[in-house]
Amino acid sequence: MARIVMKFGGTSVADLNRIHNVARHVKREVDAGHEVAVVVSAMSGKTNELVGWVENMPKVAGSNAPFYDAREYDAVVASGEQVTSGLLAIALQSMGINARSWQGWQLPIKTDNAHGAARILDIDGADIIRRMGEGQVAVVAGFQGLGPDNRLATLGRGGSDTSAVAIAAAVRADRCDIYTDVDGVYTTDPRIEPKARRLKKIAFEEMLEMASLGAKVLQVRSVELAMVHKVRTFVRSSFEDPDAPGMGDLMNPPGTLICDEDEIVEQEVVTGIAYAKDEAQISLRRLADRPGVSAAIFGPLAEAHINVDMIVQNISEDGSKTDMTFTVPSGDVDKALKVLGENKETIGYDVIQSESGLVKVSVIGIGMRSHAGVAASAFRALADKGINIKAITTSEIKISILIDGPYAELAVRTLHSVYGLDKS
Ligand code: ADP
Ligand code: ASP
Ligand code: MG
Repeated sequence: MARIVMKFGGTSVADLNRIHNVARHVKREVDAGHEVAVVVSAMSGKTNELVGWVENMPKVAGSNAPFYDAREYDAVVASGEQVTSGLLAIALQSMGINARSWQGWQLPIKTDNAHGAARILDIDGADIIRRMGEGQVAVVAGFQGLGPDNRLATLGRGGSDTSAVAIAAAVRADRCDIYTDVDGVYTTDPRIEPKARRLKKIAFEEMLEMASLGAKVLQVRSVELAMVHKVRTFVRSSFEDPDAPGMGDLMNPPGTLICDEDEIVEQEVVTGIAYAKDEAQISLRRLADRPGVSAAIFGPLAEAHINVDMIVQNISEDGSKTDMTFTVPSGDVDKALKVLGENKETIGYDVIQSESGLVKVSVIGIGMRSHAGVAASAFRALADKGINIKAITTSEIKISILIDGPYAELAVRTLHSVYGLDKS
């Protein structure tokens, strides 16, 4: 007997038939004698609709600012998961399974106060464990918890993955299965590159980079939690027949295992390619080249909660003036330009330029630590396709390249093939 947490994403619970299908996956594990807890997302598209309602509330006459309250945003957008958790509990009950739905505040899943992007602080797993022991399946609404202000708090988009891994850690589950609409983690987004290959295993660090650099198959925070708490996490498909051979395999279910790098016997140099759309570049021209200039730029941006990513500073020709270029999410450009405009005197630049609609393509692999020339092959391959590189950043296990938006798919495919990732 094992203890398993099963998470089902939006497309897996998109309608009543899909929810019935999910119930069959759960029944398979219950019938095999395992202790099971389930985490669900909202029906696909639902959270977007709810966010749209909050953001499109008609403005008060005479005011430009949309009325916005982060606590009420959470109250509204968390409702999608309330519906699916109840519906799945009903579907399970109709199959003769003892099931009960739980909202984040009922367990409770305690979070910090960052409404809209809260972090889970603590889950007391004892109650779920006791109920599992009595043969009850807890169906937990993902994406939500209870803040210190005693109000609903949501975990950021894609947050149900994090709910699932956190619950798996809290109940010391043997496995956390993330069921989605693809049958595992691929070498790149299979919707962009049909030649992408499914990975049998991927190391925590690589998955962390893939997720942070744009592969939304798992929320970044869920990978961090899995790594810290050593949760054995699989990404697998809910679209396969729940009773097909091998689906109930305890040690090696079909899908991708996220694990320690020592568990991976044949480590490739490059494991995957990720991409993030909607990046923007801001350049400050003819800045005074003096100590403190970076602090004068990035301090105010940080205070305004603007996430700066790639930073490139030119070496100045004569030691007096330089240029600084950096990227921010496209949605933050206006805010960033405003902050930089307000601080023009203290920063001391001449002109400011910005460009939106850029894409960051990243090459990821733990094997890069011990291999030279990985970056050079990327640059050569992109040059051969006539793709201009606007900025580059590297770390031990990744190279990120900023390019013009329209070249995104070509760049992903080119890099995928150059590192031998295409399936034969
Ligand atoms: P869910 O609703 O189940 O949480 P998501 O849409 O959040 O599903 O994540 C699954 C999607 O992630 C897939 O449909 C796929 O297009 C995308 N994706 C991006 N990169 C990858 C990758 N490297 N491997 C697998 N899927 C990926
Ligand atoms: N329903 C939420 C979202 O769409 C959480 C999730 O699906 O993981 O972001
Ligand atoms: Mg998701």
